[in-house]
Amino acid sequence: LLSYGELRRFRRLGDGKDGPDKASRIAKFAARFGPLGVPTPTDFHETPNFERVSDWRLWARTMDAIVRICLRDPLPREEDYEHLRRAFRDRGLFPQNPRVRGLPRQGFVESWAATRDAGRCLAMWLATAQVHTDFSWHENEPAPSWRIISTGLLAATALGTVEVLRDNVTDEARLRGDRVPTSCWHCKVIYIPRRKPSAGRRRFCPECQELKMPEKYRDSDKAKRRLEERKRRRRKIRDIRPGIPKSTSPVKGSTKR
Ligand SMILES: [Zn+2]
Repeated sequence: LLSYGELRRFRRLGDGKDGPDKASRIAKFAARFGPLGVPTPTDFHETPNFERVSDWRLWARTMDAIVRICLRDPLPREEDYEHLRRAFRDRGLFPQNPRVRGLPRQGFVESWAATRDAGRCLAMWLATAQVHTDFSWHENEPAPSWRIISTGLLAATALGTVEVLRDNVTDEARLRGDRVPTSCWHCKVIYIPRRKPSAGRRRFCPECQELKMPEKYRDSDKAKRRLEERKRRRRKIRDIRPGIPKSTSPVKGSTKR
C-alpha cells in the first residue's frame, strides 16, 4: 500500500500544465511504483509496453478532485466537478443549483450532492481498477476470511484515496462525538469505541486494552524517544569535536589536548 506522502506525490502529478517536466516526473514515479495498469478489454493483467502521460494526468486529477470535493482540502473549484463529469462520462454528476437563498451563484453544487457524487466516482474508479473482494470460509478455519484483491497502481491509488477519505471524515465525525467504527491499532479489528476518542490518538479494541497493549506501545515509544535523545546528544558532541570517532561514546573529561 502507498503511504500518505506517496499518494500526495501521485496527486500532484495532475497539477499544472503538460510538459516534458511533468512527463519525466511521471516516468520517475512509474519506475518506482510500476505502471498504472489501466485494464484493457482484451487482457487486463497484461503489463503494458507504454502508458500515456494523459492517462496518468487524468487519474491524478481525479484523485485531486475527489479529495478537494470531499475533504475541502483545499476548496473545490468548478473545474474539479467538470473534470469528474468528463472523466466518468456522466453529465448528471454534481447537479448544480444556480440560485442559493436568493443569490445567483455560478457552478454552485450542494454539499450533499457533492460528497454523494464524489463517492460514486470513487466507486467507479474502484470498478475500473478491478478491485475485488474475496470472501471464503474454509472448513478448517474457525472464522471466515475477508480480503481485498487488487493488482496495479490504479487499484492502489484508488484504495489509497478510500483510506484518506475514511481517515479524515471519520476523524471529523469523532470530533463531533459520532460513534463511528474504527480499526484497532494493534490487531486491526473493526470495533465501535465506547467513548469519544481524541483525534490523532491510537485506538485499541477492548480486547487489546485488556492485554495492556496501549501501555506496551507507550513504553516502546518512551524507549525510542530515549534512544533518539541519546543519539541527538552524541551528534551534538561530535559536532563540537569532529575528531571523536563514531564508535566510541564520548565521556566527560576524558578528552586530551
Ligand atoms: Zn485490538
